[in-house]
Amino acid sequence: MTGDQLSLAARARKMGAAEGEGIVRCDACPVLCRIRPGRAGACARYANESGQLVRTDPVLLLQHALDAGGKVVAFGRADWDGTLLDPARTFVTGVGAGTTYPDYKPAPFIVSAEHAGVDTVTVVTEGIFSYCGVKVKIDTDRHLGPETAPVRVKGEQVGHVTTAEYGSQMLSIGGVRHLTGGSKKEGTVTCDAMLELCSGRPVEMTIDGGHTVIVAAGRAPVVDGRPEARMRVGCGSATVGIFARQWLGHVDEVIVVDDHITGVLTEHQSGRVLDMPPSGIRVRGRRSTPGRYFQVANPGLGWGGTDITDPLAIIQKIDAKAARPGLRLLMTSTTGEDALYCVLDDRLVPVPAEMPAAVRAVVERIGENCEPSLCTVLFMAGAGGSLRAGVTENPVLLTRSVASGETRVTMGGAPVYLWPGGGITIMADVTRMPRGAFGYVPTPAIVAPIEFTLPRALYERLGGHVGDVVSVNDVIREVAPAARVEGWQAENPWPFGDKP
Ligand code: SF4
Repeated sequence: MTGDQLSLAARARKMGAAEGEGIVRCDACPVLCRIRPGRAGACARYANESGQLVRTDPVLLLQHALDAGGKVVAFGRADWDGTLLDPARTFVTGVGAGTTYPDYKPAPFIVSAEHAGVDTVTVVTEGIFSYCGVKVKIDTDRHLGPETAPVRVKGEQVGHVTTAEYGSQMLSIGGVRHLTGGSKKEGTVTCDAMLELCSGRPVEMTIDGGHTVIVAAGRAPVVDGRPEARMRVGCGSATVGIFARQWLGHVDEVIVVDDHITGVLTEHQSGRVLDMPPSGIRVRGRRSTPGRYFQVANPGLGWGGTDITDPLAIIQKIDAKAARPGLRLLMTSTTGEDALYCVLDDRLVPVPAEMPAAVRAVVERIGENCEPSLCTVLFMAGAGGSLRAGVTENPVLLTRSVASGETRVTMGGAPVYLWPGGGITIMADVTRMPRGAFGYVPTPAIVAPIEFTLPRALYERLGGHVGDVVSVNDVIREVAPAARVEGWQAENPWPFGDKP
């Protein structure tokens, strides 16, 4: 950001204080760096440019662009010819907007605009989040580590394994305890890991009692050096149920190996409804309900998230009263990546055989029904003092208006999920946020853009800083020449309601 840009944001804020020898004291966060001329502060977000405090990254303006048919189209900086942006289609984001500190100072930009005949205000800032974390969803059956096990980066605990979900392992990374409650190194490594994850860069993590995983938002996880390809079609029981009819007539028994719920077709309700006779094959583990077994093996990186590499090892016994020589048995994992076809010999021992084409086709269909294995990174944070006081002098009114849906919250224009209950606790998918949206300060804390959009009349009723409102026209005129201008991400809802 140039001095010109900062002047609009800071004309009422008086950011930075001049000290002797051209030094400027940055007051954008509690660190209060003393910055020499030509140098940047500890976070590299602010610098001393000829004795003036400047934000080192340009503010990001998003332009909602439409084609002739009214469809949202890509709009890059290269597409912008330097002419004035259309105020009705411009959204001022918190990316590069700067922070005001201490809390009571108004946000860097409080922007007025008219949309669909309604006067609106968007309060724009870069929040400093001491209370924040990252929720990571890793689409894999592989057992990455025990629930609650510490997750480490460079040897420091930065989070833990949390409850597995359907086809995904979940990690909870960051949070105030790792940022503030341990050693300085733990806080620094945690902050750095969160910043990397939120920025879409890969982070290698090791799990105590488990494995190593490389996580990058929107990309496949790499477990112990092996990229994952498929997210399972369902648990073992669901897989049996989904494909039961397609197996009928081609096999006499199917066992879908799963660390959580292994399915046995002829015993399962789906096999019974199809009048499949019992095979007499009994698997290990604890029987939950007919044809559904828990704990058939230990968790691991093998078949279906178990430690099994030889699937026949989970067969406890074969009942001679029900089984017969020539019985056709298929064993498969929940992704179809592992599959074994056997025929029982005269001693009722399963003997591997070539898989018939009709059976293989169903196994391949399991694979076809698996979605690509991806890592999802959600940034989660609570809006605290400086954020809410920067919007209004009576912060509880803002909290209530956000809870009621009257005030829309975005992060770099991306939609957020607002947790019900007290406070303003939000989550956002980092892949829907603009490039370079995140930063940090060495307190340590994560810096992220946040915008509050609401009708101007409501903003006045909330006790907003109405004396600091600037029109979007002024922002465009004064800031746009040095701003970063990008297109609105088409999948993100326009914060002012319908499309412009
Ligand atoms: S860490 Fe960054 S924001 Fe904080 S005082 Fe230093 S330069 Fe300013």
